[in-house]
Amino acid sequence: MAVKRSVPRRRIGTALIGAGILAAVPSLSACASSDKAADAPKPPSASAAAAAPPGPDRCAAGYVALTFDDGPTPMTSAYVQALAAAGNTRATFFLTGAHAEKDPGTVRALVEAGHAVGNHSYSHPYLDQEGEPKAFNELLGTNQIVKSAAGSAPTLFRPPFGRTNAQIRDDARRLGMTEVLWTTDSFDYKGIPADEITRNALAVQPGGVILLHEGYPATAAAIPAIVKGLADRGLCTGKVVPSSTTIEAWPGQTHNAVAAPW
Ligand SMILES: [Zn+2]
Repeated sequence: MAVKRSVPRRRIGTALIGAGILAAVPSLSACASSDKAADAPKPPSASAAAAAPPGPDRCAAGYVALTFDDGPTPMTSAYVQALAAAGNTRATFFLTGAHAEKDPGTVRALVEAGHAVGNHSYSHPYLDQEGEPKAFNELLGTNQIVKSAAGSAPTLFRPPFGRTNAQIRDDARRLGMTEVLWTTDSFDYKGIPADEITRNALAVQPGGVILLHEGYPATAAAIPAIVKGLADRGLCTGKVVPSSTTIEAWPGQTHNAVAAPW
């Protein structure tokens, strides 16, 4: 299970959060790939949308959550369009404070489209190596930015690279957030084609959480097939909620989050 990505890091200069809560944030992991916007796919045609059968049994097998990390990016609207075309599918977007701060309008648009927005730290560091209070401030600052843009603070938190520990989990709890890892990795950040992303995503089991990312044309292109593949199994897409049961995310790591109806 690759929880640490081998992506290049690039300098973005000094970024400051609102009321000076964070000191200088010298770098941002380049996992958002916002420079790929020029390759953004066309919105899927109506015929490509999932044709989920109507009726009470449509979600008989349960719910899974689609989660998209690292936005907002210039491609966010293409993702939103693809989700809308795939049967008005709703998803959870884990945003970095640095990106949200630069594009509050897109944060607002995500919420207005019915999606959930979660906290993915401010500068996408290895939070388990940050120490305190830096790690806490990464979460706090991002909550303030998202609240300012969307009207309410996130209740879900995903640590970058899935790197977490008891302290970070407690930081999230103090800020009213549940830590959400993932049970199914699409590996989209490896630059694989849409059909492989789809295949990986569809390994999900009921209640599971699928890891996907913003900024990748292949990920946006995979959305219709993922949603249709879930529908074919009687699975519906849901939101992420706290779980009283501890669930294995990957070997050696657990979380207390599960997919549930919106
Ligand atoms: Zn990330």
